[in-house]
Amino acid sequence: MAKMKVAQWTAPRMFSVKEVDVPTIGHDEALVKVKACGICETDIRIWTGGFKIGGISAKVLEPPIILGHEVSGIVEEIGSSSIIGAGDKVGVFNVWPCGKCSHCRSTSGFVHPSYCREVKSMGVNVDGGYAEYVRVPISALHRLPANLSIEEAALLEPVAATYHAFWNSGMKLGDIVAILGAGPIGLLFVQMAQAAGASKVILADLLDHRLELGRELGADVLINASKANTREELLRTTGGVGADLVIEAAGVPGTIRDSISVVKNEGNITLFGVPAEPIRDINMDLVVTKSVCMKGFIGARYSEAIDLLASGTVSVKKLITHTFGLDRIDHAYRVAVEKTENVMKILLKP
Ligand SMILES: [Zn+2]
Ligand SMILES: [Zn+2]
Repeated sequence: MAKMKVAQWTAPRMFSVKEVDVPTIGHDEALVKVKACGICETDIRIWTGGFKIGGISAKVLEPPIILGHEVSGIVEEIGSSSIIGAGDKVGVFNVWPCGKCSHCRSTSGFVHPSYCREVKSMGVNVDGGYAEYVRVPISALHRLPANLSIEEAALLEPVAATYHAFWNSGMKLGDIVAILGAGPIGLLFVQMAQAAGASKVILADLLDHRLELGRELGADVLINASKANTREELLRTTGGVGADLVIEAAGVPGTIRDSISVVKNEGNITLFGVPAEPIRDINMDLVVTKSVCMKGFIGARYSEAIDLLASGTVSVKKLITHTFGLDRIDHAYRVAVEKTENVMKILLKP
């Protein structure tokens, strides 16, 4: 049987780079030769140990598993004929619904596969893309336009997920938009807010290099939260009124608290970051007394994400700062966790 190299998560903070059998595919599956796979904050949380799939009340995910849900590659083999064939350059939708449960069969509006009771999530509860090959359902494949590189396509998942939240955010033309967190996700939101006609995009983070990249990508006002008080600065730049829309893209207690205090009366808050722990001391009274609409989102819009990238409306080229082979995964994780070398997005190239 043919072998492939993988980096398997085997214990908290531990990868094992080894050879395993190349997966055999079924009738409705494809084998994709992985060309690039992003490292995401979710991966880091899983690797650290204690990650709970489906939120903080759910059960802890156990090793071993091959991580990696931000995959692009070339179709190697396909189980049955489809509009996509061997040799096609593809992005892979990472969430695979069962198609049978009540969520999957619901016809009311947009139902995201994440709500499926039997969902398979690539690189979380089924093997993912830190491998030379990955087995995926044919229905998860998206053929890529010629002008989209395989590296850019590895960011389809974050673009698709970010866009789903943005699409639902309630942003209107001319809004002042505050984005808390300038990681890759925050900087995608910056570009979307500008493209959608924000009058001002305010970006807050602890790291100057991330803020500067945010400026290049369209942020108008930068707040370094390690040097200034985000709440005071944000209220000052909005004449004491606050932002029409606050997008929380860090998932930590401080920015979630700030989002409530800096949104204007009757404003919108989009929560994108997923907190790892329950958060204390949230001023929920302000949500009521300011008539704030606060929403969390999970979901992804892949076709739209491909269009946003292919048209140049959103660019990820400057977000990709590092690429490593699977053999260097320990080093890659060190850079990602310690946030050294001005890191933004790291791609693994199996
Ligand atoms: Zn991700
Ligand atoms: Zn289902």
